[in-house]
Amino acid sequence: MMRKIALIIAATIVLGACGKSEPSQPDGPELVIYSSRIEQLIKPIFDDFTKETGITIRYVTDEAGPLLARLKAEGENSPADMLITVDAGNLWHAADMGILAPVKSEVLNTNIPPALRDEQGRWYGVSIRARTIVYATDRVKPEELAGYEDLAGPQWNGRLCLRTSKKVYNQSLVASLIVALGAEKAEEVVSGWVNNLAVSPFANDVKVVEAIDAGQCDVGLVNTYYLARMLEENPDLPVGLFWANQTGEGAAGRGVHVNISGAGITKASKHKENAMRLLEWLSGPTAQYDFAHLNQEYPVNDKTAPSELIEQWGRFRADTMPLSEAGRLQGDAIRLMDRVGYR
Ligand code: FE
Repeated sequence: MMRKIALIIAATIVLGACGKSEPSQPDGPELVIYSSRIEQLIKPIFDDFTKETGITIRYVTDEAGPLLARLKAEGENSPADMLITVDAGNLWHAADMGILAPVKSEVLNTNIPPALRDEQGRWYGVSIRARTIVYATDRVKPEELAGYEDLAGPQWNGRLCLRTSKKVYNQSLVASLIVALGAEKAEEVVSGWVNNLAVSPFANDVKVVEAIDAGQCDVGLVNTYYLARMLEENPDLPVGLFWANQTGEGAAGRGVHVNISGAGITKASKHKENAMRLLEWLSGPTAQYDFAHLNQEYPVNDKTAPSELIEQWGRFRADTMPLSEAGRLQGDAIRLMDRVGYR
């Protein structure tokens, strides 16, 4: 809690001077960004942008929920030009609240695949995160694994670890199950997961990997960048990565559930031209390289390669379900998880 208060104060200070004509402020153009991505991940990217364009960036970082509430409350008077956040669920919600402006651009349409952006152009994915299966390399053979739905099977009883259903990552994953399998089958699968849990769901993905390492469970579901970061620290970590749903007919072979971090220009922005310049730049080579290397995520722009560390996992087929669907079905996913007792 203290940390959160400190962050809010810091955020207020960063933004405090904005809009007032104080002598210390730069005379040149500037943009204000609200970001739920933490400072360490966005500041180097903004610095590169400023270096290339001369446009200064001020930013506020906070959780997605409070940022959305703030944008809504500020309305047309918001100083924010852009919202940057993670997960299509959050971006969909922001668009649904009417705080993002629809924009179109050839550059964005070329750099970002259609499934990773809003049909109406209110938000665009700027990095891909894959949520897939991880396993204890000493207790599980990759041949025993197949897809998300197979983790509901009896062979995984008492062997599965999950993160809490409160996290938007799992809400989007379950929404993808509803799209792929239908609501009834999806509910059976998630109920099977709950039955197979070795321990109560964890607060974050790192704890899932740690539990597998510690022998508490044998399989789990995480975003790959968490495992990549842990492998950077400890290359001998006995936790392997398995690309889910790569083979089989129909839904079984639909591919790995991917989500995005993304950005949208606010309706309130008074600097739409420069905001568009930033948005396009985020989909270009410098920023895409930064996303891939700062947080071990996958670039959305296929002209940029992933980092060497994650190249070892090879290429995977991604589920091409439009991410706006994950947003639309978020509520259904939450109620489904609640019904089967996934806490
Ligand atoms: Fe994350």
